[in-house]
Amino acid sequence: MTAGLNRRRLTAGEVLFQTGDSGQEAYLIESGAIEIFQQRDGSEISIARLGRDDLFGEMALVGDHTRTASARADIPTELLVITHELLSDQMRRAPPVLRHLLRVTMARSRDSLRQLDGGPTRTETPTPEFEHIDRDLAVRRLRTEHNLRDALRDQALELHYQPIVEINSTRIAGFESLIRWRSNDGQLIPPSEFVDVAEDSDLIVEIGHWIIDTAAAALQRMNQLPLPERPFCSINLSPRQFSDPLLFPAIRDALQRYQLVPSQLRLEITESMVLGDMAATQALLHQCRALGCPLLVDDFGTGYSSLSYLHQLPVDAIKLDRSFITEITENARATVIVRALALLATDLGMYTVVEGIESEEQAQICGAQGIRYAQGYHFARPMPLDQALDKLRT
Ligand code: C2E
Ligand code: CA
Ligand code: CA
Repeated sequence: MTAGLNRRRLTAGEVLFQTGDSGQEAYLIESGAIEIFQQRDGSEISIARLGRDDLFGEMALVGDHTRTASARADIPTELLVITHELLSDQMRRAPPVLRHLLRVTMARSRDSLRQLDGGPTRTETPTPEFEHIDRDLAVRRLRTEHNLRDALRDQALELHYQPIVEINSTRIAGFESLIRWRSNDGQLIPPSEFVDVAEDSDLIVEIGHWIIDTAAAALQRMNQLPLPERPFCSINLSPRQFSDPLLFPAIRDALQRYQLVPSQLRLEITESMVLGDMAATQALLHQCRALGCPLLVDDFGTGYSSLSYLHQLPVDAIKLDRSFITEITENARATVIVRALALLATDLGMYTVVEGIESEEQAQICGAQGIRYAQGYHFARPMPLDQALDKLRT
C-alpha cells in the first residue's frame, strides 16, 4: 500500500465529520454513498450526494483545516483516505503557478460556502509562510513567461555557439547552440533562468521553432566559408517538443531552405526523455532517421544511467556529463568509468563527446580514453555567431 493511503469503513448513518471539525484528510469513495450536508436554523440542508469515485473533504486540506460541511454515510461505505502528507507531497511537486491557482480557487470556494452559510466572506486565518513563497514564485513565473513572450516577439533571444573540437587535432568540428536572453539593460540572461518557464508553458514549442530556424541559418553561413569539412551544429530539445506535430516538418523545411546536409543538424535529447516514453521516443527516432539528423543523448550518466536502452535505440552519440570530467584529474575511478563508457559507445557504433573540459590535462586524459570530441571552457566559451564564424576562419 502506498504511504499515506488507508482504507476506512463506515456503517449506514455513521457521521464521518461535522462542520467546524478540524480536517486532516480527504476521501475517495470506493463503494457506498456519502451525504454532504449543513445544519441551518436547526434543519439539515443537503449539499451533495456522492458515490463511487467521488472525492470529498479536500478543501480542509488546502485551506485552514476546518470542515465547512458535514459528511455521513447513507449506506455501508468504504473510503480511501488521502492524508494531508500525501496531498502536500503532491502539491509540492506541482508547478508553482498551478499550486497557487489551486489555493486561490479553493479559498474562493470556501468563501462562497461561508457566504451561503451567512458567515463572513473573508478567510480570517493568517496565510502560512509557504503560501507566500508559492505566491511569489507563481507571480515571478507568470511575469517571466509574459516577458519571455515579448522577448521572442522583439527578437531579444539569441543563440550562442560553443565549439566542439576533435581532441587530437583541436580542429573545430562543430558547435552546440545554446540559448540566451538579452534583457532590456543589455545583460545576457542564462537559460537556467527561463528555459524551465518556457517548458512549463507552451512557449518552448514556439521558441523551439525559432531555435531550429536560427541554428539552420547559422549553418548556412558556416557553409559559405572555405572549409575542408562541413561543420555540424546541435540543438537542445525539450521533452515537450516531442509532442509538437510541427517539429519534424520544421526541421525538414529548415534543412531544405538553408541547403544543409541533414547530418549537419544534430539533436540533443536527455536520458530522461529517452526513458520517459519509449513509444514516443521510438517514433521520434524513426523520424530523425528518416530525416538523416543524428541524435545525441545529452548529460549521459547523470540520470538513470541505464545502459540497456542504448542498444535498442538508434542513438548516434552520447555526451558524457561534466560531472565525470571534474573528477577525472583527481579520481582514477572516474577515468576508468569514462574509458568504459567510451568503449561501450564505440562498440555500439556511436561516438562520444565530453562536456565541461576546463583544462589541458582533462583534454589529454579524455583523448587517451579514445574519446573523439570535446567541448568546454578550455577550448572556448559559447559565443555569438559572428565570433563563431571568425573562429572557423582561423
Ligand atoms: P547543456 O545542454 O548541458 O549545455 C551545456 C552547458 O554547459 C551550457 O550552459 C554551457 O555553457 C556549459 N558549459 C560548457 N562548457 C563548460 C565548462 O567547461 N565548464 C562549465 N562549468 N560549464 C560549461 P548554458 O548555456 O548555461 O545552458 C544550460 C542548460 O540550459 C543546457 O545544458 C540546456 O539544458 C539548457 N539549454 C540551453 N540552450 C537551450 C536551448 O536552446 N533549448 C533548450 N531546450 N535548452 C537549452
Ligand atoms: Ca546540450
Ligand atoms: Ca549537457
